[in-house]
Amino acid sequence: MQQLNRIGESFWYLTPVSETDRPILGMVVGNDLTLMIDAGNSEAHAQLFLEKIAEQNISKPDLVVLTHWHWDHIFGLSALKNALSISSVDTKEEMLKLSTYEWTDEALDQRVQEGTEIEFCASCIKKEYGDQRNIHIALPKITFKQRMEINLGGVTCILKHVGGDHAPDSIVIYIKEEKILFLADCIYADIFSPKRNYTKKRTLELIKQLEEFDAETYILSHWKAITKEEFLQETQLLKSIAHYTETCRGNEEKIKEEYGQSLNRELTEDELETIEYFVNGYHIRT
Ligand SMILES: [Zn+2]
Repeated sequence: MQQLNRIGESFWYLTPVSETDRPILGMVVGNDLTLMIDAGNSEAHAQLFLEKIAEQNISKPDLVVLTHWHWDHIFGLSALKNALSISSVDTKEEMLKLSTYEWTDEALDQRVQEGTEIEFCASCIKKEYGDQRNIHIALPKITFKQRMEINLGGVTCILKHVGGDHAPDSIVIYIKEEKILFLADCIYADIFSPKRNYTKKRTLELIKQLEEFDAETYILSHWKAITKEEFLQETQLLKSIAHYTETCRGNEEKIKEEYGQSLNRELTEDELETIEYFVNGYHIRT
C-alpha cells in the first residue's frame, strides 16, 4: 500500500513499490508553484500520485522534473499533460532513443536477448502493465545542462547534474529551506551492464558533489528517506570499498579479508554485494 508522507513544511513523497519497481515520487509545494519529482513508471502510478496529493488539498503539479532516463521514472509523464516538464539535456536525449521502441512482450524479450534491455526491467514492465501496454513516451519541454534553480515561492529547488555509475545523466534536487537532498537512484550501481558494477572514479566524483549540499534528509528512490547519519554510513561504505578495490587490485577475496579486518567483524550482505559490484567494475573498466 503506497502512502503519501510529509517531511517539513513543503515536501511530500509517495512511498515506493519494489515488486513493480515503482520509485518514490516527490512533491515540493511552494506559495506560487508546485514541483513534482519524477513522473512514475506508468500513467497509473502518476494518476495515483495525483489522487493522493488531491486528498491533501495540494494542487496539481505546475512543474515536473525527471531525475534520469530510466523507464520507472519517466513512463508516467504522458499522464501529466498540464505540468511543464524539465530534465537534463542528456536525459531527454536518452528518452528520444526509448521513444522509438516497442513494449510488447516479444519486443522486450528480443531486446533482453540482444543485450539492449535487462531482464529485471523487462519483467517489472510486464508486471506493472499486464496486457495494457499504454506506453507513450512524452518528452520534457525544458532542458538544462549543469544546474537550474527554481523559486517556487518561499521554497527553492536546486537541480544539479551529478552523473555517477547508475546513470550518467543523473541529477539531484536540493530543497534548500528543508535541507532535503533528493538523490533518486544516483548512488546505486550501474544495472544496465552484463554485470552490475561500481567504479572508483565515478563513485568518488559523485560523493564529492553530494557532500557539497548542506542536507539533513536524503531520499533514495527505491528505498526511503534517510538521515544524514545513514547517508554518511552509505557513502563511507562506498568510499572504503572503492579504496580496497584499488589497493587489492580487484581481488574479491583479498578485499573481503582486508575490509573485514579493518572493521573487525563479519561483513553484512549489503557490504558483500557492494564488494562484488566494485570488483565487476574493476574488471570491466580497467
Ligand atoms: Zn534508475
